[in-house]
Amino acid sequence: MSKPPFLKSAGQTAFQDSMVTKFGDVLLPWDGQEGVKGFGLMGLPLSKTSISHSGASFAPESVRSVFKNMATYAVEQDIDLAAVPWTDLGDVQMHLTDMNESHNRIASTMNDVMTSNPELIPILIGGDHSVTASAFSGLSQALRKKAGIIQLDAHHDLRNVEDGGPSNGTPFRRLIETLNLDPRHLVQIGIRNFANSQEYSAYAREKGVTVFTMREIREKGIRTIGRQAYQKLAKEVEFIYVSVDMDVLDQAYAPGCPAILPGGMHPEDLFSALVYLGSQSLTKAIDLVEIDPKLDSRDQTSRMAVMAFLSFVLGKQLG
Ligand code: CA
Repeated sequence: MSKPPFLKSAGQTAFQDSMVTKFGDVLLPWDGQEGVKGFGLMGLPLSKTSISHSGASFAPESVRSVFKNMATYAVEQDIDLAAVPWTDLGDVQMHLTDMNESHNRIASTMNDVMTSNPELIPILIGGDHSVTASAFSGLSQALRKKAGIIQLDAHHDLRNVEDGGPSNGTPFRRLIETLNLDPRHLVQIGIRNFANSQEYSAYAREKGVTVFTMREIREKGIRTIGRQAYQKLAKEVEFIYVSVDMDVLDQAYAPGCPAILPGGMHPEDLFSALVYLGSQSLTKAIDLVEIDPKLDSRDQTSRMAVMAFLSFVLGKQLG
């Protein structure tokens, strides 16, 4: 006798509606074949490099579990994202104690993956923000194109690398001083009062980093700022990497970030900026960092991160 029809397997969701497609139904693990297209999810579970205590290394797991259970249909645009190819590339395995080795593994893995799959658009889940420097450098090596970064963040992340090594306070300074990023090709959006030191703002100014504060977003609107950021870089670079520190959001919306503060961005502004950036041809990669599921409430911040990268992906369908 075969299994009775209403007896569900252990671990199966309580109710399965055959008309609703979820990302878990379309996200396929990478089999290692070359030439993969579409969007590739990769976890960078490193948070031992965080200045404050952080469980951000657990974020790839929580983000995946939220993502897999979300429906693929975007009703506002009438687009079903089940139709685009989705690949789960897996997580980079970190060294247990050697943080430089972990950073090297991120860079070399990004280089390898993007060399064999140059048309893939990576969606990278940190990890703390230190992972961005290594991921961007590996990606740049693979694509061999002049690159820029649009960083959405409450903080400059321009601390001196010599003071404490390559932590989550230093990724953009590390890129500028040791990994060949032209500081004029870095645009920071969402930088906030009482979260940064004057010295690092002065460093940004001296080096020619473009900075848009939260005040400018409130006064001019995120659409204007997003367009200015993109158009500034589009004149000078061949591809753009988008880095989203979830603490760019107001603390009310992202309780799972180690460095929360009021006065931040509204989620709709973040999503709107990412739809716009996604719709532009030069944006080729996105990362989402600084989500600590151990501090979070009901996976709220992981859910925000998923909505953020889905906004970027939606933009790619509209562009
Ligand atoms: Ca940051």
